[in-house]
Parts: sequence; C-alpha cells; structure tokens
Amino acid sequence: MPELPEVHTITKDLARYAENSIIKEVKVNSEYKKVTNVEDLKRRLVNNKVTTVSRIAKNIILELSSGEYIVVHLAMTGRLLLRKQGHPADGWERVSITLEKKGNIFELRYCDMRMFGKFDVLNQSEFNNLLSKYGPEPLNPNLTDEQFLNILISKKSSIKNVLLDQSKIAGMGNAYVTDALWIAKIHPTTHTTKLTKKDATNLLKASREMLNEGIKNRGISMSDYVDLFGKKGNQQNFFRIYSKTICTKCNNKVEFIKINNRGTYFCPECQPLR
Ligand SMILES: [Zn+2]
Repeated sequence: MPELPEVHTITKDLARYAENSIIKEVKVNSEYKKVTNVEDLKRRLVNNKVTTVSRIAKNIILELSSGEYIVVHLAMTGRLLLRKQGHPADGWERVSITLEKKGNIFELRYCDMRMFGKFDVLNQSEFNNLLSKYGPEPLNPNLTDEQFLNILISKKSSIKNVLLDQSKIAGMGNAYVTDALWIAKIHPTTHTTKLTKKDATNLLKASREMLNEGIKNRGISMSDYVDLFGKKGNQQNFFRIYSKTICTKCNNKVEFIKINNRGTYFCPECQPLR
C-alpha cells in the first residue's frame, strides 16, 4: 500500500513531466463505474493546462488552469503510470489522460485492480474540504515536539492507532510506523496517556528518519507498489523490524500482533510495555 514516501516519489517525478502540459484526451474504461459521468469529466479536463503537481498526505494533486483539481488516491492496489504514447496497455487501466508538453506526448494511466483507490476531479470547495481532513505531516519542519505530543495525546488510544489516524498525523502508514516505534523504543500498544515529552521527541525524529529514508529509497515494494515508470522501490531492503523474525538490535525473537487488523511487529526486549 503506497504511503507518504511512495506517493511523494510519484508526485516529484510527475511534476517534471506534467507541470505546464496540456490535457489533450481523457479515456475512461467502461468497467470503471466510479466515474459516473464520463462526458462531464472530459469537459472539465480536456484543453486544461496542468499548472502544478503536488501531494497532500497520500493524495496526488494536479492543479488545473480552470481552478479545479485532479485528485488521485492509490489506496491498496492503485498505480499511476506515465507511458509514452503507444506503449502497450497496462493491467487494470481505469482512467488514462493524454498530456502534451513541448511536442512530447505522454499517457498518464491510473490503474487499480481492486478499485479501493480513486480518481476524482474536485472544485475549490470540495478541495478545501479534502484539505481539512488531514492532520500535519511529520515531515513538516514547523511541527514541534510539543505540538506532536499534544496531537498524540488528543486521541485516547494506542500509539500505533494514532500514528495511522490520518486526521491526526498525515501520511504515516503501517510499515513506517512499525519501524519508527522500534527506533523510538516504544511498544506499539502503549496508551497515549503514558507518553512523555521525550517519547514524542524520539518518535518525531524516528518518523522523519524513516520517511526520509523511504523517499531516498523510492518507497517500499512488497507487493503492488511501483513508481511512475513501473519500477520498484528499495525500502523493503532496509526495514528495521517490519516483517522480521529476529530483532536486529538484540537478537531476541520479534513478536507479531494485530492492532486494528494491521500486522504489527515489535521487540519485547527493546520496546517493553510500560
Ligand atoms: Zn530487540
């Protein structure tokens, strides 16, 4: 499942190709029922210029000259692929946009096998509504340890649940959270009321370390994720404890539990429950 570093990687690459391009054509696969009005979608997209490409949490945003926004969320199995015109079809293509920039023509293909993701066009007020759903990101340099702690304790729950709650902290996903908790020596079921200022400091630092490393390694490719060009990321080769059986720090057996149905790894020795 693409998390912040994966979506960041796609967005950065896409910005180079799509910014200042013109949308020439839009195709929607007839099996894709999430777009309810294909003609309306075409009318709103074709002949628009893509002014900027950016990211909000795990949403990829293409801002258009009309003032509207294309929003793509990859959810579980979504892919966004950039192909030269005439490239063979990709699996599970749902929406395809033809872009022209300086005489070069590309197809931006939104593919999604299980269709939990979305491809949407939002007007300004719908876009503002989307923005209001997300908490700050750990990578935001203005986020202080103090603010981070206040956000964490504002939800009475296990620390892992809060970190995955996008309305509290945006962009952190399961594998990055699992590894960050291990670095910060915090047991994933620790109740937020037991967190100290020092925990928040360590955890924010560990979260930034994992997200920045994930970005450097172009994301995690465990199952479906590939980048804009169909290539895999490398972060799965640098997991700290996620998917491991033996702790790399103390050689103890790693424990596996489920929290909110998400697989969670921790070392009882390095992350004792208080
Ligand atoms: Zn350990």
